[in-house]
Amino acid sequence: MERNLQVDINQIVIQPIESKIYRDQFHVSIDVLRLDQVHPIISGNKYFKLMPWLQDAVQKKAAHIGSFGGAYSNHLVATAFACKEMRIPFTGIIRGEQPEKLSATLQDAIAFGMQPVYVSRKEYQDKEKIKLKYPSIFWIDEGGYGMAGAQGAAGIFSCIPNASAYDYFICAVGTGTMMAGLLNATAIHQQVIGISVMKNNFSLEENIRQLLLPGKRNRKILLQHGFHFGGYAKHPLVLINFINQIWNDHALPLDIVYTGKTFNALDNLIKENFFRKRSRIIFIHSGGLQGNRSLPKNTLPF
Ligand SMILES: *Cc1c(COP(=O)(O)O)cnc(C)c1O
Repeated sequence: MERNLQVDINQIVIQPIESKIYRDQFHVSIDVLRLDQVHPIISGNKYFKLMPWLQDAVQKKAAHIGSFGGAYSNHLVATAFACKEMRIPFTGIIRGEQPEKLSATLQDAIAFGMQPVYVSRKEYQDKEKIKLKYPSIFWIDEGGYGMAGAQGAAGIFSCIPNASAYDYFICAVGTGTMMAGLLNATAIHQQVIGISVMKNNFSLEENIRQLLLPGKRNRKILLQHGFHFGGYAKHPLVLINFINQIWNDHALPLDIVYTGKTFNALDNLIKENFFRKRSRIIFIHSGGLQGNRSLPKNTLPF
């Protein structure tokens, strides 16, 4: 792979959360896996999910890559950057009509060479039909969803020093590809908890199950649906305040679409005594901080 796409997984940082409340009152400890720091543009879990797809594209000598996403798709930015580095043209199929003002995320993807194609929400639902219109494009499914993406995401587990010591893994869930990878990589005594950032996305469990390896099909898929703050990319003031508070208390920067909601869920679950005493929890910081740029200036201090 091109040099600018390489990541040194030995550089990945574990940040312990020092909290008297979590430690003395609820008897749990939290470490944060700072995947947000793996690469300046291919943020967080996107690097892991994309690599097997890109390797497949190279092997098949793809002359053009395409993928799908909405206006806040970190996946499209990551894929656009990767394609630029690999000198392969990239087309992004965007859900919804072209907006008057492009999101910061779409602006970035376009700056990295993405050719945007805007399709109506209705048309977007039938991705197989869209793919047929461009027979020469190598397609990466939305969010890197698929066996390849899950296989790549399983690599997140290998980045965690002493990974077998953790009782719980907690991560944000969009398509569920990262969660499936973690379910495939973790041992049976370890629980993976996924926080859905969308409202009423109840097809997730089945989508995740589809990506489990043969020996893992009976794993429990623990999804929480109550922490979406109104829906995908919705970010009411209570969420902004929470993100500010976590920054003040722990110097941990979170994003408004994924990791802020997920850390809020973790905080709530701890305070509801969801976790066994003396549990060791690892929070996967899956990146996405560039999405905060859609907020008005000075909303967040980082
Ligand atoms: C894309 C993304 C996710 C969702 O990952 P899935 O594998 O689609 O569930 C979570 N967190 C961040 C920061 C992301 O950018």
